[in-house]
Amino acid sequence: MTSSFTRPTQADINHQNLIDNFKSITSFVGPESEVLAVVKADSYGHGAVSCAKSLEMAGCGWFGVAIVEEALELRQAGISSPVLVLGGFWPAQADVILDYGLTPVVYRLEAAAALNSSAERRGVTADAHLKVDTGMGRLGVRWDEVEEFARELRLLKNLRIEGVMSHFAAADDLGENDFTRLQEDRFRTSVETMKSLGFNPTYCDIANSPGAVAHPETRPNMVRIGGILYGLGDDVLPGGVESPKLSPVMSIKSQIAHIKMVPAGESLGYGRSFTTGRESVIASVPMGYHDGLPRCLSNAGEMIVRGRRVPIVGRVSMDWTLIDVTDVANADVSDEVMIIGRQGSEEIRASDLAKLAGTISYEITCGIGARVPRKHVTTG
Ligand SMILES: *Cc1c(COP(=O)(O)O)cnc(C)c1O
Repeated sequence: MTSSFTRPTQADINHQNLIDNFKSITSFVGPESEVLAVVKADSYGHGAVSCAKSLEMAGCGWFGVAIVEEALELRQAGISSPVLVLGGFWPAQADVILDYGLTPVVYRLEAAAALNSSAERRGVTADAHLKVDTGMGRLGVRWDEVEEFARELRLLKNLRIEGVMSHFAAADDLGENDFTRLQEDRFRTSVETMKSLGFNPTYCDIANSPGAVAHPETRPNMVRIGGILYGLGDDVLPGGVESPKLSPVMSIKSQIAHIKMVPAGESLGYGRSFTTGRESVIASVPMGYHDGLPRCLSNAGEMIVRGRRVPIVGRVSMDWTLIDVTDVANADVSDEVMIIGRQGSEEIRASDLAKLAGTISYEITCGIGARVPRKHVTTG
C-alpha cells in the first residue's frame, strides 16, 4: 500500500501487539469468559478486516460490530466466526442477516418479528441476543420491561435467544461503583426472568473493557472488549486496578516536507496565532485535521523529531502542521516525525493527544482519516 510514491504520513498497525494484547486479556479474564473482540468503527480506526483476521488466527471466536454493514465487510473478507451486531438491525436488513449468518441483538419487537418471518420463510431458526438496558439509557429493553418483552418473544418460534447482554455506563469510574453494581443486579435479574420464561441463553455479557478489568464479578461467561485490544488502556481503565499488560497497536509517523529559517517576530499559519520569539527553524509536516490531528492541538500539541519532543506552532490546518525544530540539531527534510508512537526514549500516546483535545484516545484513533494509509506490520 505504501511505497516511495506516496505521502510519507502513515499509520503503522502492529499486529504482534494486537495479538499479544488479545492473549494477555484472555488470560486475565480467565477460561470461564469468552472474549468477544469489538472491531466496530473499522477496529477503532485500525482496520477491521486485517485486525479481525489476525485475531481469528490467534483464537478469537467472536467479533462485535456496531452495524450490519460492518459485519458484511467482515464476511466478504472471509471472516467466518460469529459476529454480534451490537446496534441491532433495521427490519429491512433481516434477510441480509440470514444470508450472511450474522447474530444481531434485538430490543424492538418489530425487528425481532421481521427476523422471525424471514427465518420462517426459509425454514430455519435465527439466532439473536436480547439487549437489555440496565441504566445506559441508550439501546435495549428496559430491565423492568424484560418480562413483558420476553413473553412476546416466546411467540416467535423461529428465533432463538442465544444470549442476553447489557452495557455499562460508567464502569471506568470507580466513583460510580454503586451504579455499576446496580446495573449488574438489574442484569442478573433480567437473565433470571428470561430463564424463568423458558429461555436458555448460552451467553450472558455486560462487561466492556473497563468492566472486564475493574469489575471481575461482571464477567459471567463473555466479555466484549474493544479499546484495550488496541492498547488504549491508559485513559479508559481506572488507575490503580490490576490490569492486563497492553501495548499500543497504532503509531503514526510522517516526514518533514519543508524546513526554513524564520527571523524573530514573524507570524506563522492561519490567523497568525503564533509569532516567533527568536530566530527559529520551522518544519512543515504533511498531517492536518483531515488526517485526524485535532485542530485544537494548534499551539498545544507536540511531535517527536530525532528523539526530541518539539511543539506544534500556529494553527493545525487541513493538510499541514508546523513544528518548531529550532532546538533539534541538524533537523532536515525527510527526517521522520513521530506523531503517535515512540522514537528514541520519547513517546506520545493517543491518550496524550486526547487529553490535550479534551476527549478520549478512542476518538483520536477512530478519527485518523481515510487519507492516512494503514500499514499492517507483523513484527513486534
Ligand atoms: C463499543 C462497545 C463495547 C466495547 O467497549 P470498549 O470500552 O471499547 O471495550 C462493548 N459493548 C458494546 C455494546 C459496545 O457498543
